[in-house]
Amino acid sequence: MLRIYTLMNVLFAVWELDPFFKFGGLGDVARTLPGALATLGVDIRIILPYYKALKLSNYTKSDVGHLTVKFAGKAEPVEIYSVVHPTSKVLVYLIRNKKYLDVAKSADTFAFFNLAVVESILGKKLPFVPDIIHCNDHHTSLIPLLSKEKKLQVKSILTIHNLSYQGKASVNTLEKLNLSKSKCKVLHWESKNKQVNFLMEGVIHADIVNTVSPTYAKEIMTEEFGYDLEDILRGKEGRVFGIINGIDVDYLRNIMNHSIDYPYGKPGQDQRAGSKKKFYHWAEGKKLNKLYLQKKLGLTVTDKIPMFSFIGRFDPMQKGMDILHKMMRRINLENFQFCILGSGNKNWEERFQWLCKFYPENVSCNFKFDEVLAHQIYAASDFIIIPSKFEPCGLVQMISMFFATLPIAHRTGGLIDTIKENVDGILFERYTSESLERAVKKAHYLWKAEKSKYKTMVEAALSADFSWKSSAAEYVKLYEGLVKGEY
Ligand code: ADP
Repeated sequence: MLRIYTLMNVLFAVWELDPFFKFGGLGDVARTLPGALATLGVDIRIILPYYKALKLSNYTKSDVGHLTVKFAGKAEPVEIYSVVHPTSKVLVYLIRNKKYLDVAKSADTFAFFNLAVVESILGKKLPFVPDIIHCNDHHTSLIPLLSKEKKLQVKSILTIHNLSYQGKASVNTLEKLNLSKSKCKVLHWESKNKQVNFLMEGVIHADIVNTVSPTYAKEIMTEEFGYDLEDILRGKEGRVFGIINGIDVDYLRNIMNHSIDYPYGKPGQDQRAGSKKKFYHWAEGKKLNKLYLQKKLGLTVTDKIPMFSFIGRFDPMQKGMDILHKMMRRINLENFQFCILGSGNKNWEERFQWLCKFYPENVSCNFKFDEVLAHQIYAASDFIIIPSKFEPCGLVQMISMFFATLPIAHRTGGLIDTIKENVDGILFERYTSESLERAVKKAHYLWKAEKSKYKTMVEAALSADFSWKSSAAEYVKLYEGLVKGEY
């Protein structure tokens, strides 16, 4: 049944947006969630810094206006442009300032961006008056505080995509923003160690906070996962929510049908119009993609060995590099193929590189950000390993299931909310290499010796619904509560 939603204008503030600029999963969410909200009747626009590195050459941008923002005691010129997002068709405002926004490199970039967002609304420089600003992570977390200080009539929601990145900066940042430390008791308290914590200010000053899965919303209230913000988050109880992220199924279908060498899916699954390629049963398609990738990466070319992969940022604090590496060092690698795609930590890159040196036909390491290769790996692999110590939501497991690739994941955060143990994936309990090893061996046995169970699990994974539909409706409910003043 069609639901009539309260009319509302939402400005979605974010530091990354695929395909213009993508760093991690937040870039995917920014590409997909606003479009899903627009479908439900929300008038939504995105606002993003105009970095030099934005990939905009294929798109037409329009001049929206300009203003002057006072930062670090100087009047800084700001230009505003707009561009229509290529897939969601949501309008994106781009905020340009050569000194602070050309490169996303420091706290000043984000402090300046946050100030410019608030000033452009206050100065009526945007052809859009938001009822709500939807902030995302620490990069936009000073917006609620700045809005309050400048008496901007707007509600705010802060989505925490990852609590471990909080954006701590010198307290001088407040002076640059012309914010008085004495006005705010928390700032005053923080100023003792001469640091301002952007995310903490967001949690305190946003009207409501949400994280990207129900389990992570509970976990961040605990000392184990709270990264020192658990007390402040607990103090906000009743205004902290958990909404699972979705994935853009149409976008992935398009990739499957047009970019993957041998497109495949469930038996009887319709192929989207426009592709002339043959469409395979998932088992046959996966085999062909695997043979292709093995050849491309210099691995032994065979369909008799299962392929296990890892795709993700090399963040040793979060992504489980340590237990993955320890497990790979211990098992007999000749019985497996491993395909690693990730970067971001030289030390771990070197350690994984050693495994490729000794087992070049069984281990392939690719230390780069490469979306084409990522999709080829999703398509070719039998299993994806997600050994994260903590995982707010995680997109890799959902994307992999779309590609008929079973996830093997640590039982934490959003991985619990999206993987059904022994139905469409394998969860391991403890964060140890032994626990991971048992799960990997169980998967190996499943693939080799329990073919019918493996097939049932893959088809369950292919049937899982990770579209944004229900999650976007949950966001709309929060927005409605905000504009009605319920929080
Ligand atoms: P996070 O947001 O913590 O980085 P997620 O699982 O939420 O992790 O999302 C990661 C996204 O980035 C997925 O779309 C994944 O396919 C992609 N990705 C991660 N590393 C790479 C890489 N090296 N090359 C291409 N895509 C990558």
